[in-house]
Amino acid sequence: MTDLRIQVAVPGPFYTPLTYLSERPQAPGVRVRVPLGPRRVVGVVLGEAGADDVPVEKLRPVQAVLDSEPTLDGHQLALARWLARYYHAPIGEVVQQMLPVPLRAGKALWQRGETEWHLTEVGRRADVEALPAQAVRQRRLLTFLQREGAATVSRLRAFMEDYREPMRAMERRGWVAARQRSCLDAPIDKVQRHELNVEQQAIVEAVPQAGFSAHLIEGVTGSGKTAVYLELVARTLAAGRQALVLVPEIGLTPQMVARFTAWLGEPVAVLHSGLSDGARHCAWTQLARGEVRVALGTRSALLGRFDDLGLIVVDEEHDPSYKQQEGVRYSARDAALWLAHRLDIPVVLGSATPSLESLQRARRGRLVHHRLTRRATGAAMPEIGLLDIRGERIEAGVSAPLAAAMRAHLAAGGQVMLMLNRRGYAPVLMCHHCGWQADCPACSAHMTYHARPEQLRCHHCDAVRPVPERCPHCGSGSLVAVGQGTARLEEALAERFDVPVVRIDRDSTRRRGALEAYLEQVHGGEPMILLGTQMLAKGHHFPAVTMVGMLELDQGLFSPDFRATERLAQLVIQTAGRAGREGAGQVLIETRQPQHPFWAQLRTGGYAAFAEAALAERQAACLPPFWHQALVTAQATRPEVAQQFLVEAAQRLRAHSEVEVLGPVAAPMLRKQGHWRYQLWLQAPERGPLHGALDGLLPWLWQHGGHRVRWAIDVDPIEM
Ligand code: ADP
Ligand code: ZN
Ligand code: ZN
Repeated sequence: MTDLRIQVAVPGPFYTPLTYLSERPQAPGVRVRVPLGPRRVVGVVLGEAGADDVPVEKLRPVQAVLDSEPTLDGHQLALARWLARYYHAPIGEVVQQMLPVPLRAGKALWQRGETEWHLTEVGRRADVEALPAQAVRQRRLLTFLQREGAATVSRLRAFMEDYREPMRAMERRGWVAARQRSCLDAPIDKVQRHELNVEQQAIVEAVPQAGFSAHLIEGVTGSGKTAVYLELVARTLAAGRQALVLVPEIGLTPQMVARFTAWLGEPVAVLHSGLSDGARHCAWTQLARGEVRVALGTRSALLGRFDDLGLIVVDEEHDPSYKQQEGVRYSARDAALWLAHRLDIPVVLGSATPSLESLQRARRGRLVHHRLTRRATGAAMPEIGLLDIRGERIEAGVSAPLAAAMRAHLAAGGQVMLMLNRRGYAPVLMCHHCGWQADCPACSAHMTYHARPEQLRCHHCDAVRPVPERCPHCGSGSLVAVGQGTARLEEALAERFDVPVVRIDRDSTRRRGALEAYLEQVHGGEPMILLGTQMLAKGHHFPAVTMVGMLELDQGLFSPDFRATERLAQLVIQTAGRAGREGAGQVLIETRQPQHPFWAQLRTGGYAAFAEAALAERQAACLPPFWHQALVTAQATRPEVAQQFLVEAAQRLRAHSEVEVLGPVAAPMLRKQGHWRYQLWLQAPERGPLHGALDGLLPWLWQHGGHRVRWAIDVDPIEM
């Protein structure tokens, strides 16, 4: 038998697939177990390998074929290839990201949910006393099931180790039966959808149902974008196809999930990072087999397998969480456009504050630009007011005029929301005597002072240290917490106002179910102060909030990151959008820069005016979305090692004259987790030369990087 050479994507630092020998041809997408050095790993067949010049004797054979049908379908393989090429990522790592964890470990392809035992009609009416007195375990099981209705095998095992034999006995009586439990919640009652208004209806009609088309819905906060998505999804389902809706963070928007299931009246596969590996695999299976038709998920849901995808929606398309910041640094929004094109289906991006990238694509006709200009509930858009706090006394965290406005809204029965984008108690712990500050030993950053429990925490590497009793530098006992985070503001407000204060940030919502509990309290509607970080800005609908206050935004006006003002404008408009959704609302921003043109622009012309001006600035400065960028970063435990590595990389890159190369420069956070970080900025007016330069550099990077220097390529970077 002659051995065939096949290409296999294996996990690990290989920037091409590896070649193995197989006795038989293997279909692309099939998983195989292959030797890799001393280990055996699970890889995915990509296709036949050409006869390259590695002699057959050097190639190793496939050890086992794990699938009788492909795990990844043709569209996924095509997407994997595109991601690997565009983001210059190893194909093996891209493929890993597409596999649910159990499949990476070689588990069976389909995960059918768990076996569940339930009572039959007869069993439900059965009397425990009808069982013989000595059948103790049957009696206990019957009572358990009559209380629970049904139970999965893992629940049963927890209840009674040896449940099997008595369960069989009851099965023979016809009292119980086994079934496969779906990994999805049971279908819920359908709720009537809103009748769409004229603007909404016009968009639904302008999105063709078949064939590739790409759309941008720019709709003010509360304009009913979700209702438009739902209508488009419903139409897709009616045509017998599946729909995928991407959202930035599901944990933050339990309401969104409820709305989808209730309005569509059918189960929705919810995909996010909080799922167990088994649950994710189960949802993956049901989508791949067409057993569920709607997927609502974060970034990685785009990498899933679908039976017949007919629509992709990307909600809050401007959100930075769509860009993966480590490993394969892909943008799920941009990949969604590529995939829709490949599948020949419509793709819809939506936001109240579209990214400048998408607005520019719309200008060039690559996205059809639709607008929703009014709130669907008829409520007016809130006015954005500035509070000049230069010279104001800041008492208990807020300025006197802000406190006065808060009191007025609370007295009128409204809820007040305050946004302070900094968690913890205080950002700095300082010695009053000598000026010493508590810094993270591994990062170029202060450690944040947390009061409950009392400790110092680095928000960049998660290091935790006890709070010193005396200054480590001069021994003085006068250490003071400087500045305020959400926890300190909460404490101050609780003392000064006699309404409940609810804080929502990453610390307060770490516990499972905590966010839901807080949201429920807020939805109760009584007057209260709701305070938190930008988590509050995301998609929530707080009907009783009549006033929104924003604190300490000014530093966003002076950041070295050219995207900082775009982020700030988005944050302000999104946060402001939480106010007065059902009635008149007021937004007040504390600033020491009231004369800054940014504010005038945003207040008079809204986000559109800001975006218009920002695009002109970007064009003049040859920045994205006009020019294209890529970042080569290097980090090492010794700074000169990382620097030297990039100096040599830059020399190679400078051979490409169409590409501008800047650097090496220090990363904005020079040291992180004990590593010194430097960057090379590449930019060019066209993408082609940029990719060409990176392709030319890759072999050198792979050869010279490694343990000593860790490097990464970020195409279309959004963070410095
Ligand atoms: P967005 O996502 O654009 O911020 P939502 O989809 O959350 O807006 O809608 C805002 C509010 O308007 C929601 O309470 C929603 O139920 C309501 N709504 C949406 N469409 C309509 C409509 N056609 N008629 C009445 N109310 C609507
Ligand atoms: Zn000191
Ligand atoms: Zn740190």
